Amino acid sequence: MTTIYPGQTIGIIGGGQLGRMMALAAREAGFKIAVLEPSMDSPCGQVADIRIVAPYDDEAALEELAEVSDVITYEFENIDYDGLKRLTEIAYVPQGAELVRTTQDRILEKAAIKKAGSPVANYIVAENYQQLLTNIHDVGYPCVVKTARGGYDGKGQMTLHSAADLVAVEQLFEHAACVAEAFVPFTMEVSVIVQRNPQGETYCLPMGENIHVNHILHETIVPARVSQQTLKQAEEEAIKIADALQLVGTLAVEMFVLEDGSIVINELAPRPHNSGHYSIEGCNISQFHQHIRAVCGWPLRQPKLHQPTIMVNLLGQHVVPVTNSIGKYPDWSIHLYGKAEAKHNRKMGHVTIMTDDLDQTLQQITESAIWAE
Ligand code: AMP
Repeated sequence: MTTIYPGQTIGIIGGGQLGRMMALAAREAGFKIAVLEPSMDSPCGQVADIRIVAPYDDEAALEELAEVSDVITYEFENIDYDGLKRLTEIAYVPQGAELVRTTQDRILEKAAIKKAGSPVANYIVAENYQQLLTNIHDVGYPCVVKTARGGYDGKGQMTLHSAADLVAVEQLFEHAACVAEAFVPFTMEVSVIVQRNPQGETYCLPMGENIHVNHILHETIVPARVSQQTLKQAEEEAIKIADALQLVGTLAVEMFVLEDGSIVINELAPRPHNSGHYSIEGCNISQFHQHIRAVCGWPLRQPKLHQPTIMVNLLGQHVVPVTNSIGKYPDWSIHLYGKAEAKHNRKMGHVTIMTDDLDQTLQQITESAIWAE
């Protein structure tokens, strides 16, 4: 079993906010950070010791990353699978490459979830538009058609209410196959972040309740306001999937809660997740610290929630209002990721609020008017 020690270098593929928060956690313990990222000024690059500025699939750059790093991890799943696979041969990549291959493709991902024995919405695979037309009756309406690859934050997907909507989805097949899945009449969206080290120690973060606005995560409320039974099922499903995939590192399992409290799995992300940011202040171990422990072969810690916690995302349009309000809200922990341009709907940071009264804090968030648009 390989253990990585302080003073050694952790290489991260991807220079976004997830990489930055991983790097900040790792630096506390004295690790050095190398980052591969095509842009010069990136959230993770700003806090890294070594910056390799090149595309994620650049062979020479990957070799350079392998050379300077004692262990390599990644902060997002849309990296080049072949490049990552090659890296596993020349560097220590405890997470392997297979999980990325599986979660890059909804077809493989859904099959893997089913194989683990966890429930997914009824779905069909359509390699092309014609196949969709032929087989759509197996799913019925309403349904959601999603591109198998490359979609995020609601991009690359459309809801069909009836056959009249079919023509609109032909464009989704431009690049690749799609899945069509039954619309799930959920009462809540939740996520369990499960983390595992190479020794097989596995822990879940306290489950978050996720509220999306325009398909982008807006708020995570912890603990999720569900029954003990739902909580138990959600954790069991997450652990089942983690075991089936022989997870090392972090897996975020996004789920729907149905009216009867049962769970249906929506999708997986093989990395720290926006809905786990609350754990930086809210728990005795953050998702980033636990991720670093896992990939370094350290023993993991049982996560515990200190206090009910709310995380609210800061998009481009929220940055000025929130900075103008810092004086008003001493209990708000402000995180900004160092992105230069505050574009509309771009994730720029988040706020974490620990509270003894969730309802009152939710009301305070609304009344602040920061998230009015
Ligand atoms: P996804 O990219 O798969 O996470 O989907 C983005 C969002 O679309 C989810 O968070 C849900 O709010 C919604 N959504 C996705 N799939 C379904 C479905 N089968 N039924 C109902 N809503 C869905």
